Amino acid sequence: LIEITEVRKSFGANEVLKGINIDVDPGEVIAIIGKSGSGKSTLLRCINGLELIDNGSISVAGAGLLPDELHLKALRLKVGMIFQQFNLFPHLTAGGNVVLSQMVVRKTPKAEAEAMARKMLERVGLGHKYDAFPDELSGGQQQRVAIARALAMQPIALLCDEITSALDPELVAEVLGVVRELASEGMTLLMVTHEMKFARDVCSRVVFMHQGRVHEIGKPEEVFADPKTPELKQFLGMH
Ligand code: ATP
Ligand code: MG
Repeated sequence: LIEITEVRKSFGANEVLKGINIDVDPGEVIAIIGKSGSGKSTLLRCINGLELIDNGSISVAGAGLLPDELHLKALRLKVGMIFQQFNLFPHLTAGGNVVLSQMVVRKTPKAEAEAMARKMLERVGLGHKYDAFPDELSGGQQQRVAIARALAMQPIALLCDEITSALDPELVAEVLGVVRELASEGMTLLMVTHEMKFARDVCSRVVFMHQGRVHEIGKPEEVFADPKTPELKQFLGMH
């Protein structure tokens, strides 16, 4: 579904991605782990076209990604992304937030966007919060609104960048529960996460990034129970 081939990306003299290769099958749930600065966020940003790549190629659902604005825009329509910060508009209700992005980005007519917003808020367990403003919602609820907003764009895959890192510990489970459900429904997911237990339980594969490279990749039971490299052993705290 997503083919990442020899992708390189530099910021100035700093080469952050040094030839990344990953093939993501439809319905796969991939956890991306690694130290701070290893290039995890940059990789996700390249996949949904928030960053241009310098070399290599990324193809999503068979459509190659050329480094021009038209293709980047098409890519952003196909691939959803959710961040650590929820980035909801504070002056709009939960429903309003989910409606607005559809109308702006997809040019969806208002009535249709509202129906979709209800459906997607329902799907993340927030059907009853359609008219609530972000400051009336918990962090976990706000993040679930952000997930509903991404789903309303009908993406073929969802990229999640540490989406539970800004949450109080007691709110993490409700957001991971939504992700777990999406996974079981067959959504293709790439998620940067520190939730190792979740990665072990839910993910089909784990990617360990180190210094801009895919240092290890495999099934969770392989990667967690039998790491091959000293770097991954150290990262997992098994010296
Ligand atoms: P973390 O776990 O802290 O989120 P990460 O693995 O997501 O780290 P990235 O955010 O991808 O790492 O950053 C990788 C490297 O790229 C870092 O050295 C960072 O300083 C650099 N970098 C990222 N974005 C930019 C940018 N827009 N301009 C310049 N340098 C950048
Ligand atoms: Mg990051």
